[in-house]
Amino acid sequence: MSLITESKDLLPINIGGEMRLGGGDESATLYPATGEVVARLRAPSLADVDEAIARADHAFRTSGWAQRKPHERAAVLYRVASLIRERAEPLAQRQRLDNGKPINETRALVASAAATFQFFASACETLEETITPSRGDFMTMSVYEPMGVVAAITPWNSPIASEAQKVAPALAAGNAVVIKPAEATPLMALELAAICEEAGVPKGLISVLPGRGSVIGDAITKHPLVKRVSFTGGTSTGKHIAHIAADKMMPVSLELGGKSATMVLDDADLDHAVNGVLYGIFSSSGESCIAGSRLFVARKLYNEFLQRLSVRAAALRVGDPADERTQMGPLITAKHRESIERYVELGRSEGASVRTGGARPQGELYARGNYYMPTILEGVKNTDQICQQEIFGPVLVAMPFDNEEDLIAQANDSVYALAAGIWTRDYKRAWRIGRAVQAGTVWINTYKQFSISTPFGGWRDSGLGREKGRLGILQYMEQKSLYWGLNEQPLAWAN
Ligand code: NAP
Repeated sequence: MSLITESKDLLPINIGGEMRLGGGDESATLYPATGEVVARLRAPSLADVDEAIARADHAFRTSGWAQRKPHERAAVLYRVASLIRERAEPLAQRQRLDNGKPINETRALVASAAATFQFFASACETLEETITPSRGDFMTMSVYEPMGVVAAITPWNSPIASEAQKVAPALAAGNAVVIKPAEATPLMALELAAICEEAGVPKGLISVLPGRGSVIGDAITKHPLVKRVSFTGGTSTGKHIAHIAADKMMPVSLELGGKSATMVLDDADLDHAVNGVLYGIFSSSGESCIAGSRLFVARKLYNEFLQRLSVRAAALRVGDPADERTQMGPLITAKHRESIERYVELGRSEGASVRTGGARPQGELYARGNYYMPTILEGVKNTDQICQQEIFGPVLVAMPFDNEEDLIAQANDSVYALAAGIWTRDYKRAWRIGRAVQAGTVWINTYKQFSISTPFGGWRDSGLGREKGRLGILQYMEQKSLYWGLNEQPLAWAN
């Protein structure tokens, strides 16, 4: 595995199992806390993209990976999980440098990646095919086949975990995988591919093609040998990919943006709700698709709740991602911070007042990093742009609500429908609201908890398809029906 220490050398990328410099533009990955260069590499050229996909297709057809018995493929994936665990700390440190998340979060992402490989290894071993009820002189069964070359296109906010979520089921299903990590965070995908090869995934079956999405991601998506794209990222990119997929008649899964509603009812346990709301929006500095970024609080609690929340938000420990006590690190890039600042200005122009935050933190520690304070805006309407658009940063909009009907209508009044949170002591209300709210995931008296066994995805502009869960492996397989004739006589029609 590559060292954490900075190097002036250009980092090779994985083109069809060959580690070499890409033929495209040079780019650098910067440590968001200081702006220092962590690594430099050259993106693939379009010829490199073609070569990587051709090699992946060749490896799919000739390496025997897809033909290995499920327990043999699973054994390799279990080894991937073990290797990730053995190297957990250096991987977590490298990811911290790559995207600036606090070390405790990157440790959790690395642990999650290992667990994902373990889970899909077992899904591969235990996947069942079915004998279906026949309605004639034949036996019928339904089986699954791998697809060939599939693409995994991932964003910068949770590398290694996002990549594992796509690569593990794709490999378990017998496919070849081309990974297109975000240009800003290419390092973990390269590490993961190296670990997969070390564990026994045939060379060429995995490629890592970092580079600008509009060029490299586009070329991968359009490539005729790519049979499926699993994409995580913004909604507009997701729609663009869906258009290309429609032309190719190619299945896609799209894990997209969100503006998730968190609802604090008048009977909520406020200690739990305050902690949950803070964690829901400000962990990962709000750079999270499922961030609980729209807060609705029962009017009678509103002032007390906002008071408690804003005091606690202002006290969050924003700072050095290497410090284990840090709760919020820097944002991914200076450009992204500027976009968040523009959103806060937009909110102000729409009449929002800033309850807390709304500025960069001051002091030596923050001088070179892309830091922003946890921010709460209020005095807004759910129909305002600040309440409708995804900010993808540490900005919460807060609104009071009057009754359940009003709450549900507002919570569902969004193009997004990724997640929601409900805080109440009344399980019947939680059930009612939990069923009425339109979202792929609803948390009740908790938030942002995950299980690899539980399917994940969004409705409406938040996405298409589901990842994770035991049947997540089927996203990467084609279903086939087999009919076995059992008739004693030739088919009568032709007589
Ligand atoms: P993004 O701009 O859509 O980028 C995501 C990935 O797509 C990157 O690798 C990007 O490459 C690539 N890409 C960009 N244009 C492309 C194109 N024309 N064809 C193919 N690939 C292309 O999203 P982002 O700003 O990096 O990530 C934040 C977004 O992701 C937010 O909206 C967030 O909610 C969403 N997200 C969703 C989930 C979920 O599970 N629902 C999880 C995490 C994040 P480059 O960056 O290198 O250009």
